[in-house]
Amino acid sequence: MKRFLLALLPVLAAPVCAPAAAPIKVMLLDGEQGGPYHAWQETTPYLKRMLDETGLFQVDVVTAPPAGGDFSQFKPEWGKYKVVVANYDAPDERWPEDLKTSLDNYVKNGGGFVSVHAADNAFAKWKAYNLMIGVGGWRGRNENSGPHWYYKDGKLVADSSPGNAGSHGARLPYKIENRVTNHPITKGLPPVWMHVGDELYANLRGPGENMTALSTAYSDPSNRGTSKDEPILMVINYGKGRVFHTVMGHDLAALNCVGFITTYQRGTEWAATGKVTQKVPKDFPTADKPSTREAYNPPPGWVSPPGQRRPATK
Ligand code: ZN
Repeated sequence: MKRFLLALLPVLAAPVCAPAAAPIKVMLLDGEQGGPYHAWQETTPYLKRMLDETGLFQVDVVTAPPAGGDFSQFKPEWGKYKVVVANYDAPDERWPEDLKTSLDNYVKNGGGFVSVHAADNAFAKWKAYNLMIGVGGWRGRNENSGPHWYYKDGKLVADSSPGNAGSHGARLPYKIENRVTNHPITKGLPPVWMHVGDELYANLRGPGENMTALSTAYSDPSNRGTSKDEPILMVINYGKGRVFHTVMGHDLAALNCVGFITTYQRGTEWAATGKVTQKVPKDFPTADKPSTREAYNPPPGWVSPPGQRRPATK
């Protein structure tokens, strides 16, 4: 009898003792961003603060060894986290195979993954990584990496003609159109909204399997664009894992867009849990007017990192 009662105890006690919504554990991965174009030491604290301010997440920054560093002891505890946010871009040869396999297995088995801006430049030849992110650019990607995916007549279309992957024009403001308005990440957002000056990634190529473009932007030929509607926000299913891919966020100026902040906060929650509980903020940009937040203004005297990755040629 005593044993029976003891066995019942956890059942009876569970509703009383259940903690109020435990924070979602997030790994923010950084440590390298191929070249001088992306200042990860500068952007990581902003990306962390955006998640912290929602009150939903508990974020640990995990910094990979630098180029030439010792990866033999770098074994991130993926399993401790509901989602990994990548502010990280490294070449294929940087990671040992077992490290690649461990991330692959983590996402395949249901871990969330968020690719921010140049994280989709990383690992051009790692097949599983490109399946996770759907599409990517640069680092030698071309038609062998997959077709160029763009949006036309209500759906993503694939152009397999030869060419390098990855291009963008000058960092000008651009309009973003939400193509899927009933997804948890985009639900309630205005159908069209103005992003601040940022790189509009175009000509991204990849397998594009199980990939949905939630939002697109017109890549204007007057700014070295493709004259196509290019994917800006994507969701990808990889095994049991959910992936959120945002191409926005080149530098601190671009990160300080309420549209970036909101979709990144919501996308991270969705990748972790499959749901979004966050409301659309009142200062969300409109179709004609970008919106920034003082709390995310770059520090006084800040200048964008020197150099800019040039559009792929040929
Ligand atoms: Zn960039």
